Amino acid sequence: MADYRQMWTDLEMDLEKHDLLCEALPDAFGGIYLSQENRPQGMDFFDFVVAEIHGVRPAELIEHQQKGGKVFGTFCVYVPDEVIFAAGAISTGLCGGSQFWVPGGEKVLPTNTCPLIKASVGARLDKTCPFFRIADMYVGETTCDGKKKAWEILASDVPMHIIDIPQMKRAKDIDGFAEEIKEFIKVVEDFTGNKVTAQVLGESIKLINNKRKALQRLYATRKAALVPISGKDALLVTQIAFYDDPTRNAQMVNKLCDELEERIARKDGVFPENAKRILITGTPMAIPNWKLHHIVETAGAVVVVEELCTGTRYFENLVDESATTLDAQVRALAERYMKTNCACFTPNPGRIDDIIRLVRDYKADGVIDYNLQFCGLYSTESYLIKQALDAQGIPLLHIETDYSEQDFEQLRTRVEAFLEMLGK
Ligand code: SF4
Ligand code: SF4
Repeated sequence: MADYRQMWTDLEMDLEKHDLLCEALPDAFGGIYLSQENRPQGMDFFDFVVAEIHGVRPAELIEHQQKGGKVFGTFCVYVPDEVIFAAGAISTGLCGGSQFWVPGGEKVLPTNTCPLIKASVGARLDKTCPFFRIADMYVGETTCDGKKKAWEILASDVPMHIIDIPQMKRAKDIDGFAEEIKEFIKVVEDFTGNKVTAQVLGESIKLINNKRKALQRLYATRKAALVPISGKDALLVTQIAFYDDPTRNAQMVNKLCDELEERIARKDGVFPENAKRILITGTPMAIPNWKLHHIVETAGAVVVVEELCTGTRYFENLVDESATTLDAQVRALAERYMKTNCACFTPNPGRIDDIIRLVRDYKADGVIDYNLQFCGLYSTESYLIKQALDAQGIPLLHIETDYSEQDFEQLRTRVEAFLEMLGK
């Protein structure tokens, strides 16, 4: 990584602690990513983004702030990025995916909080992530209890706006979410000093849709009998989409897809055709959480699709672009976001339908239900998923884990046994 120490100092980061993080990442990334064979050339850009993860993009965000722009940090796929970009601001994902930040979160949160929340709070309070330092305002949501309470702690350290996410999907809930989006527009307008007009919101809806369309195209390539990209690489591309510039991101993903489609045409896969195909469902995998994919793919199977927030939930649904008035655009946004099926909703049959549809579309041989420890929502929903998949005869492995490496070998043994059962 180039030298960004002055920038990190200006951000009042804990440089000593941050050095420890910077030292660990290259080894982890090298071992998990660069060791893969026959990777697409288009991954070079995404490798570069990781190599410069705390440098290049943070520097761009600071440049934007120096020109008077604002940066919003978000934690969940229910936050409408369209509104943020429409006001000339930038949205960046803040979800913590590293064990490195967990002890910092544990200083203020109960130990039995999910690692994603602990890491997100730890990254802010320990001052070891430039993105968490740069964001002028954080945007939280009322999805799960742990997050709701964590926002109150973060709010004492940084300006926060909380979006009230409905818990059900009745017509009145969608109306209520449209009202929340209107309120969010007002908050963003006041904070940035820029008006969100129908014209700029329309452009922003197209911008974010284009990013989603590029990811849809990427995932479509994974349906091929000879998969042209590993699950690990596809996961990395999706993780990076949360904080890269949306225009550049769509361009780079589409460039990668050109190459992947050529690979499919000449039958050049990264795994043999008989490799078992795995769908992973469950809680999000924020960067640099690559543990499960690494275990599955070093055991000889290939992850072909993720029904995760760092997967299909992020991009499957598009916003209707035909609306021309602000009211109609807000309605289109509310409808689109309420199509996403997170376990925070009750009931949530759409998620089970999604899993079964994706198993068929991607010809998955088996499903791994991945739960972060202490996530009551997803681990409880696992019961219903098991019932539904059993009824369809779809093999399922349920795992619960955290960000540490302690259970790595134990997980490997369980995954290998599952793959054997699939007839590897
Ligand atoms: S799992 Fe639910 S709460 Fe968590 S990021 Fe996804 S949508 Fe948001
Ligand atoms: S993984 Fe579960 S507990 Fe953790 S933030 Fe998401 S919904 Fe909440």
